Amino acid sequence: MSLYFNPIKLVLLIGWFYLCVYLAQRVQFSVLVVKERRPIASFLTLIFGPLLILLLLIVDVCKHKSEDERSVIAIIQERVSAAFNHIRSATFSGRKGEDMIELLDSSGRNIKEIYGHGKGKGRDSHILNLTKDIIFDALQEDASDILIDPKDNSTHELRFRVDGMLRTMEYMEMQTSQAVINSIKAISNMDIAEKRRPQDGAFVANTVSGSVSFRVVSAGVVYGEKLSIRILNQKAGLFTLDSVGLTKKQQVIVEKEIQKPSSMILMCGPTGSGKTTTLYSMLNQIDLFTRNVITVEDPVEYTLANASQIEVNPKAGITFAKTLRSILRQDPDVICVGEIRDEETAATALRASQTGHLVLATLHCNSNATALVRLLDLGVSSLLMASGLNLLISQRLLRRLCEHCKIPAELTPAQIREFRKKKVNYRSVYQAVGCEECHNTGYRGRFAIFDILLLNDQMKEEIANNKILITELRRTGDKKGKSNLYKQGLKKVVSGITSLSELKRVVG
Ligand SMILES: [Zn+2]
Repeated sequence: MSLYFNPIKLVLLIGWFYLCVYLAQRVQFSVLVVKERRPIASFLTLIFGPLLILLLLIVDVCKHKSEDERSVIAIIQERVSAAFNHIRSATFSGRKGEDMIELLDSSGRNIKEIYGHGKGKGRDSHILNLTKDIIFDALQEDASDILIDPKDNSTHELRFRVDGMLRTMEYMEMQTSQAVINSIKAISNMDIAEKRRPQDGAFVANTVSGSVSFRVVSAGVVYGEKLSIRILNQKAGLFTLDSVGLTKKQQVIVEKEIQKPSSMILMCGPTGSGKTTTLYSMLNQIDLFTRNVITVEDPVEYTLANASQIEVNPKAGITFAKTLRSILRQDPDVICVGEIRDEETAATALRASQTGHLVLATLHCNSNATALVRLLDLGVSSLLMASGLNLLISQRLLRRLCEHCKIPAELTPAQIREFRKKKVNYRSVYQAVGCEECHNTGYRGRFAIFDILLLNDQMKEEIANNKILITELRRTGDKKGKSNLYKQGLKKVVSGITSLSELKRVVG
């Protein structure tokens, strides 16, 4: 049993209420109860109803207690407040997803064409609307992922990843959530009957502000089936080098580099650090009419007008390395490699930059120095690296403090001493609080900070002659990159844009 809102349960609850009132009334006239005791008996009958429901709830919580470490009271409190929140949001805020959004599979078929047939149409359309509501809410919240995971054998947890952090949205009854999962799998052209083996698929949502692509992965886990939906960055293509967050000095360096006919720019950063957005902002700065631009991506996040974009598909044998080799024959001016993952891709990209191409690529690593180490680890020769590589950019995303609730920070004496040592004004350092506007996180939106390394001739020579030892880079490289990023971030902290704890969390 769970207390989540659903029309059948509401009818049962109302029925139960009337039954209790009726029984209380009957007691008034019952010959079985002595006349003086009748008021008290009526009262007991009236409160018996709610008490029984509470008792059922306690029994249910105790049954699942072994899987949860919190106290029974805490779980009941959470469930009751979740139920009230749910009823409130369903009744008053009025979800609008069903009217605002249209779901299509990758070949453009509507979800109703795929899913809306067969018996039980009423329930089907209820589930379809629920699915649309979830997707609509995720887009409203600017989420990057939607995760539906089984929490125990009767509930699924629905979470959104917003600004890089997971946020629990609601708990759904297994029967309902499984139907939602099935509808998403149907629209993504996945096999609904297959619940164990991992599968992947894709679908598109048309909204008033344009169409958004989704990538779906399903897999069987302990209590059932989990679904992860990645929302492709709809805003990735909207940034320019002006708006992406580079300092003036950094922007000049990058702009100069992308004007060159042959060069290689490598974007470095962990997953979700905004590398792709910066890559697109560079592409937006390049004249797509006069220069032939080809991109290889996994997946294509944003469609660029006047550029050829190819999506890799390892299952079909379309890999980064293979695609890269074939596009080089088409004589492009600019090549954009979504991600370097292997030696062949790295070497081909580096060679292309030497033979009259501007190459933009991303590499999954922590800093500019570790990017060099990573390339050597992949098996790229130091000579090729030195001659091909020109500019390294590493980046991180920091959450922006919510303007509605941020307050001046309470700094510890040690922190104040540190600020004084660095001679920075710490009077406008703020800290996160949390309010309704920011879903109690204290933050809304994110911005990027950058560390840039332009390889000059001397550095290139040192790399080529192995004078920069790998072990040395491994030891000191990360440190220097981190301190550069920290410096950039600290400027944002002292101007009250982000908090000290956020900077520590991301850059450490
Ligand atoms: Zn707030």
